[in-house]
Amino acid sequence: MPREGIALVLSAPSGAGKTTLVKRLLAEFPHIGYSVSCTTRQPRQGEVDGKDYIFLSHEEFEQRRVQGYFAEWAEVHGNFYGTPLAPVKEKLHQGQDVLFDIDVQGAAQLKLSLSEATFAFILPPSLHELENRLRGRGLDDEPTIARRLVNARSEILQARWYDSVIVNDNLDQAYDTLRAVYVAAGLAPARNPHLLDEILNR
Ligand code: ADP
Ligand code: 5GP
Repeated sequence: MPREGIALVLSAPSGAGKTTLVKRLLAEFPHIGYSVSCTTRQPRQGEVDGKDYIFLSHEEFEQRRVQGYFAEWAEVHGNFYGTPLAPVKEKLHQGQDVLFDIDVQGAAQLKLSLSEATFAFILPPSLHELENRLRGRGLDDEPTIARRLVNARSEILQARWYDSVIVNDNLDQAYDTLRAVYVAAGLAPARNPHLLDEILNR
């Protein structure tokens, strides 16, 4: 019986650098599974359906929601997002580690249903820098950027209940911290009962 995989839940205000950090983590640890969310948002340039997101109409999303298809779901910046439950459960039961990129509302729901998960929050060094990054990324129009900045304030306050916070000022340092959070999650004594027994009996 393989041990349950690590569930690593990451949240951040939009523009903090979560996608950049996640790509790096998945490149270094390709065995980590990614929880592909459903969304009603329009695909951005370069995004692949089924890989980055499963892109759904509002009707399709609502149908799945009432069928209990989602482990959690939330409205974020005017669009709906949800985590499909079955593939995540299957991966974790098979012992595969799974990374979730979800907002604070969804993370709070998972905290109740997946309490053994590790919750990490990526912070920008300041709201000013967050604004610069959102503009510099060049993906969102001005009203979208304004809405994301307003939401960032309340999202950042939610970081209080996460297990770890990672300030993404220097990218390399932030990545080292994220890496350490992931590695430490796998070393938790509850995941390694045999290790403690071996040390005591050696
Ligand atoms: P998110 O997924 O959190 O919305 P992104 O990963 O898309 O954020 O990053 C937003 C922008 O900020 C991108 O243009 C990215 O290259 C840039 N960025 C990410 N991390 C840093 C950093 N530490 N310093 C400067 N720019 C960064
Ligand atoms: P974006 O549209 O920029 O890809 O993501 C916007 C926000 O939605 C991000 O904070 C992201 O973490 C969040 N998000 C993505 N997928 C999900 C999901 O399945 N559930 C929830 N609750 N939030 C999600």
